[in-house]
Amino acid sequence: MNHQVTVQPSGHQFAAEAEETLLAAAIRQSVGLPYGCQDGACGSCKCKLLQGEITLGPHQLKALSEAERAQGFILACRAKALTDVVIESHEVVGAGEFPVKKMPARVSSIEHLAPDVVRVMLQLPAADPLRYRAGQYLQFLLRDGARRSYSMANAPTEAPQVELHLRHMPGGKFTDHVFSAMKEKEIQRIEGPFGSFFLRDDAAQRPMIFLASGTGFAPIKAMLEQMQAQGDARAVTLYWGGRKQQDIYLHDWVMQQCARMPTLRFVPVLSEADAGWAGRTGFVHHAVMADLPDLSGHVVYACGAPVMVDAARHDFSQQCKLPEDAFFADAFTTEADKAGAKA
Ligand SMILES: Cc1cc2nc3c(=O)[nH]c(=O)nc-3n(C[C@H](O)[C@H](O)[C@H](O)COP(=O)(O)OP(=O)(O)OC[C@H]3O[C@@H](n4cnc5c(N)ncnc54)[C@H](O)[C@@H]3O)c2cc1C
Repeated sequence: MNHQVTVQPSGHQFAAEAEETLLAAAIRQSVGLPYGCQDGACGSCKCKLLQGEITLGPHQLKALSEAERAQGFILACRAKALTDVVIESHEVVGAGEFPVKKMPARVSSIEHLAPDVVRVMLQLPAADPLRYRAGQYLQFLLRDGARRSYSMANAPTEAPQVELHLRHMPGGKFTDHVFSAMKEKEIQRIEGPFGSFFLRDDAAQRPMIFLASGTGFAPIKAMLEQMQAQGDARAVTLYWGGRKQQDIYLHDWVMQQCARMPTLRFVPVLSEADAGWAGRTGFVHHAVMADLPDLSGHVVYACGAPVMVDAARHDFSQQCKLPEDAFFADAFTTEADKAGAKA
């Protein structure tokens, strides 16, 4: 049986089928609820249940704590309606703009950017292009029903090609395959675009901080390309963190963009730098805090390891006066993250 979902304060309404989460129903009907991992691990789709009854599937306590649950908060990606419901959630302009589609994708090239990072180029059907916003992600649909998410690393163009940056996670179901068996011309099934991590218009033209760890650089690269294509002249400082120099795997590419974009500054930061590294060291979000102890006039786009995203969100708002609504993030959650403390 279908139930009606009403979103406040917009008043938008959509139908959720019995076995469908509120988020899946919203995505299907192009309603722009905010979300990230779709797996109960990142908390981006947290919203408040104002009326009605739901069941809530397993989720990470760091995504939705018991105290938040007691106050009526739920995760749209884990909630199924038992009655008509009313939820309170902000909506993201443009999040439902492009339809989510399944399609075959042919691996056109696999190139090592670092010992544990590859750039995979996918050829998509020319007649049925994947339209997306720079910053969004797609999912590989694996044969056993599992899905794995990867951010597009190129801005959308007319060419039916997407670029992905994949880091090897030893023991990982999909990246073990990519690093040991994936071949050019291999056909995969994908679905997308997903996610609400993309650049927002900003009438105030506030300076932006792009914060990336490891392959969290992928969607940031797409955003930089889009800024250039659109002549977006907002000031942006990219802080890209890794353990070793090889983790900043497109350092030279970023330096080339700095030469093209006078508004772009680049600060690579290493947490386990070898002797000889003359640049910044430590945790990447600490470098931001050292340079900008007052972030009240900035907007931050953060992407990569969940631990980095969580620490930046907390420390920037608690110690650097970053407004809560000026922090946008995609946390690259994995099966290991999902295996932790659950409710
Ligand atoms: C929105 C989003 C965008 C993303 N974009 C990117 C991207 O652009 N680039 C990128 O590299 N990654 C990205 N990721 C992460 C990516 O989706 C995968 O999670 C990652 O590549 C690992 O997939 P896998 O199948 O190889 O590993 P998995 O099978 O998911 O395993 C991951 C790790 O956890 C371990 N593990 C598996 N199961 C358990 C368990 N039960 N308990 C403990 N440990 C376990 C494995 O040994 C492995 O080391 C993104 C994630 C999200 C949510």
